[in-house]
Amino acid sequence: MNTSQQLIFTPGPVKEFPEIYEHAAEQTPYFRNQQFSNLMLENERMLLDLVNAPANSRVITLTASGTAAMEAAVLNMTSLKDNVLSIITGGFGERFAKICHTHARQCQEYRPVFNDNLSNTDVLSDYSDCDTLLINANETSICHQFDLNSVGRFSKENNILNIVDAISVFLTDQLDMTEQNIDVLIISSQKGIALPPGLAMVVLNPKAIENIEPNPATLYFNFNDYLRDGERGQTPYTPAVSLIIQLNRRLQHIVQNGGVTNTIKHAASIAQYFREHIKGLPLAHYSEHMPNSVTALAVTNGINAAQLVNDFQQRYNMVLCPNGGELSDVVFRVSHMGNVTLDDTKSLISSLHHYFGITQ
Ligand SMILES: *Cc1c(COP(=O)(O)O)cnc(C)c1O
Repeated sequence: MNTSQQLIFTPGPVKEFPEIYEHAAEQTPYFRNQQFSNLMLENERMLLDLVNAPANSRVITLTASGTAAMEAAVLNMTSLKDNVLSIITGGFGERFAKICHTHARQCQEYRPVFNDNLSNTDVLSDYSDCDTLLINANETSICHQFDLNSVGRFSKENNILNIVDAISVFLTDQLDMTEQNIDVLIISSQKGIALPPGLAMVVLNPKAIENIEPNPATLYFNFNDYLRDGERGQTPYTPAVSLIIQLNRRLQHIVQNGGVTNTIKHAASIAQYFREHIKGLPLAHYSEHMPNSVTALAVTNGINAAQLVNDFQQRYNMVLCPNGGELSDVVFRVSHMGNVTLDDTKSLISSLHHYFGITQ
């Protein structure tokens, strides 16, 4: 599979940074030593800083994809007695509910009406007595972003543990654990962080740490063990050492280049440019509340969206993201995360014009 000339616009994996991945060819070092511990501890400090976590928050680093972190959060942060509320607007919300059902959690499902971003949480008043809330900051399947400020306020007022899957907004959209009252934050390596898949991080604030189940029904994902070993910069089991080293390089790179303010600014400007310059095409925004990270587009001239995605790979060597399920014929997605540049985006815009036979 030769993909070197391909332009990738999928929301995971995303276009990566050569200055980070060129190091991936190095020998994997041994990790049960002080040097690796220091690197782990530095990653933790930088991550906590980037999401403005309150004092005494901690990061758990899992060798797994994002879904494992979602499952681990449910296993460690809820008990069989707890009342869990899952907010569902698409595939990733469904996944949280499925995790709850898999582990016999009492899960109520709330499905907001289309395009409701919960900036008004009155609609949640029937659920104010729940113990835990599960939400995806951005439902990536349809690019629908929730208002984390109002959801956080609702959780705090009702003493609900607020668990946010922020996988597809970290580094591209505003995320602030303190301001937004997020107790548990889930992120993973192959989205905005722009690393290969394989690492997922769970950030816990002090309230979350206090609420960890003492004996969760999992060995590999037992947070108590990760917190204990993490104090000295280690993990209970062999971590994805090479990805953790790449994460360190990427985080340094972000900090040295103006921090999260700049990564957000970059994604926002590219998303805006893209959305502005496709206005003459038979493409409509699928959702009203799209994040900076990714755009979902409905094809309005009858061309099949999955066919369009195929055609783009064949004709332009560009990888767009098809949708699954019932939207697969109508909707496709374009990511603005990671190392996607304005020039890449301009190439995509001109290819879209060429494809539809419309002059730019
Ligand atoms: C990508 C993504 C995940 C993680 O999915 P994995 O395939 O397990 O990495 C979870 N939640 C959201 C919202 C995502 O966009």
